[in-house]
Amino acid sequence: MDDISPRSGMVRKRTSIEDFECPICGQVFCTPVTTPCGHTFCKPCLSVWVFEMDSSTCPSCRGALDSAVLSNIDKAADDSVRAAFPEEWKARMTLACEEANKVWAEQLPFLLCDDFECSKMARGLESINQQNQSLARSCPRVVCSMLTIPRKWFLPPSVRPRAYQGAPVRLETLRFNVSAPEVYGHALELLDLQPGLSFLDIGSGCGLLTCLAAALVSPGGRALGVDIRETAVTFARSNLERARALLGERIGSSLLGATALE
Ligand SMILES: [Zn+2]
Ligand SMILES: [Zn+2]
Repeated sequence: MDDISPRSGMVRKRTSIEDFECPICGQVFCTPVTTPCGHTFCKPCLSVWVFEMDSSTCPSCRGALDSAVLSNIDKAADDSVRAAFPEEWKARMTLACEEANKVWAEQLPFLLCDDFECSKMARGLESINQQNQSLARSCPRVVCSMLTIPRKWFLPPSVRPRAYQGAPVRLETLRFNVSAPEVYGHALELLDLQPGLSFLDIGSGCGLLTCLAAALVSPGGRALGVDIRETAVTFARSNLERARALLGERIGSSLLGATALE
């Protein structure tokens, strides 16, 4: 029941139910993550805050925050909430699963599920397949990687609403296109990437293909993006950094990042 605040180093007891409530959803923690400033939130709640709202400050104190915080699962808080308030925790998890199912079509399953092959993944595949026949033709591994790695987070916020319209997206300021989802699916299907292989993505643009490849060659493989345009490399690096924060070990050492072509 102890919680060590990273800032103060003080140990304070969590005792009442309020101590286990996420300031964003007002319910008990579901997969809690604790920020460097010492505030705790549900991982799904904070993921939406960081990525959907594009915020880089803590919702509670406005302290600096980056996406790496999402890999900071607070095991102690998680154990405590389960033990102290099992009914509330169960209700919160059920709600979180319902929410996750709703956003399946939006490709956000990783908010809760860390298992590539889990049953939630299978249900998600089913719903995606009904909506997108061209994606349905792809092999399950390719579809899994595409479901797990959201295309919209490789686009600038202003064009994210167009992420799943099945068409290429023009990035005017960066002066390149991000191809349609099915182009990625088709290319990856033909490449048939297997764990342990090395993949060099020449002209890596936004970094999405590099990231998808990293998931497919993992474990044991390597994926590196290379681009001649410095602005593209900078953009890809920040996209890959947050993908790494979210996907953690799933792509871990396989994702080498993006680099400029010398
Ligand atoms: Zn919450
Ligand atoms: Zn804070």
